[in-house]
Amino acid sequence: MPETVDWGSMSAKHLRMLAVVATDRTFEATMLDGRRMWVGKCIHCNAKLVVDETGRAAGEATLEHVLPETRGGDNSIANLAIACARCNRQKSPHDVRGGVKLDEMMARLLARRAERWREPSEVGLAAVVERAMQRDDD
Ligand SMILES: [Zn+2]
Repeated sequence: MPETVDWGSMSAKHLRMLAVVATDRTFEATMLDGRRMWVGKCIHCNAKLVVDETGRAAGEATLEHVLPETRGGDNSIANLAIACARCNRQKSPHDVRGGVKLDEMMARLLARRAERWREPSEVGLAAVVERAMQRDDD
């Protein structure tokens, strides 16, 4: 696969977005309108989400911390997931959904993220994940 994107010039946010794409097996590369795009599923509701090959959301995709930073979550790739904007907004520290405590919801999401995990080398993006892990700026 030819490297068409200059990873070094990407912002930390876009690198992280692409690193999540690289490590989430629901995301598959496809051509849309002549551009290579990644199409996958929201970590919460499985809605279809699209990210371009430079880590920019096409539409509703947002990057979220599974375990929020306020609860000790960090920017490690395993703690990041892609969610639709609506789902991401609904998850607040005081949110209790359907009687399920937030801690249980986060544990479920972390488990789901782990189930979806794939090695980024499978899709030729190991370098993106390495770069994303070296960055701790926003
Ligand atoms: Zn969603």
